[in-house]
Amino acid sequence: MQYRIITISFIAFLLSVNQVMASTADFVFTGGKVYTVNETQPWAEAVAVKGNKIIFVGSSSDAQKHISDNTRVIKLDGKMLLPGFVEGHTHPVVGALATVGVDLQFDSIEEVLNAVKTYADANPEMKIIRGFGWRYPLFPSTGPTKEQLDKIIPDRPVFLMAVDAHSAWTNTMALEKAGITKNTPDPQPGFSHYERDSVTGEATGYLVEVPALLAVLVKLQPQTKERIAEEFEKLLPQFPAAGITSVFDAGMTGVGEDNGLEIYRDLERKGQLPMRVVASFYHNNPDVDPLPILKKLNKTYNTELVKANVLKINVDGGDAHYTGVFLQPYADNPKTAGVPVFTPEQLNKMVIAADAAGFDCHFHAFGDRAVRMALDAVEAAIKTNPKRDRRHTLGHVAYLNDEDVSRFAELNVIAQMSVQWAMPDASLLDVSRVRTGKAIFDTEFQRHRSIVDAGGKLSFGTDWPAAAHYSTTKPLEAIEVAMTRKMLRGEKDGGMDVLPPLNELLTLEQSLKSSTIIPAYQIHLDDKVGSIEVGKLADLIVLDKNLFDIKTEEINQVKVLMTLMNGKVTHLDERFK
Ligand SMILES: [Zn+2]
Repeated sequence: MQYRIITISFIAFLLSVNQVMASTADFVFTGGKVYTVNETQPWAEAVAVKGNKIIFVGSSSDAQKHISDNTRVIKLDGKMLLPGFVEGHTHPVVGALATVGVDLQFDSIEEVLNAVKTYADANPEMKIIRGFGWRYPLFPSTGPTKEQLDKIIPDRPVFLMAVDAHSAWTNTMALEKAGITKNTPDPQPGFSHYERDSVTGEATGYLVEVPALLAVLVKLQPQTKERIAEEFEKLLPQFPAAGITSVFDAGMTGVGEDNGLEIYRDLERKGQLPMRVVASFYHNNPDVDPLPILKKLNKTYNTELVKANVLKINVDGGDAHYTGVFLQPYADNPKTAGVPVFTPEQLNKMVIAADAAGFDCHFHAFGDRAVRMALDAVEAAIKTNPKRDRRHTLGHVAYLNDEDVSRFAELNVIAQMSVQWAMPDASLLDVSRVRTGKAIFDTEFQRHRSIVDAGGKLSFGTDWPAAAHYSTTKPLEAIEVAMTRKMLRGEKDGGMDVLPPLNELLTLEQSLKSSTIIPAYQIHLDDKVGSIEVGKLADLIVLDKNLFDIKTEEINQVKVLMTLMNGKVTHLDERFK
């Protein structure tokens, strides 16, 4: 009998030791404003992390029991702790191809040329001068010219990507090195071409759309996986620095899915990938069956941090080049309303098949008719296929007709929007508003609040590096613009204060949900990340200010002091060390 009692008490002893060990945290954050995005416990003071999991959320005093000698205690002193940001749509590896070199996001040609010259002078060893971010409104519709660049750099090739990464500007030497002459055929006549002088037929240095710009770029600088990986490693820190811990990669044009996914996977193997990546296969060709390709990617890339399980479908383009697809003709070009990449029949068939195979679709749907076509395709899949946990998503939703607002909630389709585009910049006011006309633009453009008020799920994602005017990776900037529809930092580019429709402003609570738990839901990670709850993975960020205490216009200035992904520190600001 005595033996038995000893055994039981010994087991009890082992259990209690085990409990003490289990409750000793690696990190304890205390004394802060912890906004959890968990509706049952929205605020807390302290969080404890063990391994890659959150083991405690509550008061600072209760957190003490998780602290031992091995615990790293982080005193928040009233700073804010949030779940890591989840980006519902971005293109990280494409950024490594497109954003190389000097930043050219300025509002005058002089500033752009000055920046190029200064950069070239500072880097005499560079064999090719690259840059990113010049804006269309600075130039006539025929684009910039090689002569403008020849004047400042005649002896090295110059290749400058536009801010939307859909065209480029080169000097004469770049065209020569790439072998582009008067007689070189355009890569895709009518869609992608080398702009020509109307008299001589010579290329002007303006390369329109991705096939043309890539044709030149690869001749100047082969875009191998190794080169892109090298560039990607350089820009990678900006993601955790912006508070990002998970992303949906919405396409790898120019890089290729296998190259891009291998780059992510190699970084994960080296322990250097600071974010979870859910990737897609980008599909824009009616003659190709995308499902076998996606199935193969899905099988090949399936690790803890990297997965490929979404079909990205390109339904239309944008309004700048009349490729966005609308219910009515363009105001300044009534001959067209845009032509969709797929017919409604092709689209429905493809979405039904992808849905039946268990894949979610993420549509590029920009114009109001493209949005309706994508919603119709999801509706067809729901009617045809058995019930499942489907999370189809419409990306962009730049223009939304009244009749389709409630369909996001009804069909449980996520509206994924680059909300920071809803600012009154010159590109929107001088290009988009002219193309679609005031009546449509002022009522249909970026209707964030309407979707939310109708019960729909709205997911933020910057679409970096793509932008019409201002390219950013920063969720905090997106959050501010969603709440103001104003320019950042008091700028007044377009001369307008608040972008219409005026009743589309979001609250901070909604903007934070749209930056965390909703995009996590979109990519099936909401059971693991997106809120601060016991048992979830430790993806956390520390901000230097409580967003609820400051003016909305100051949100873009807030600093991310620390980022934790999977329980590991992936970013630490100097001031927080
Ligand atoms: Zn995109």
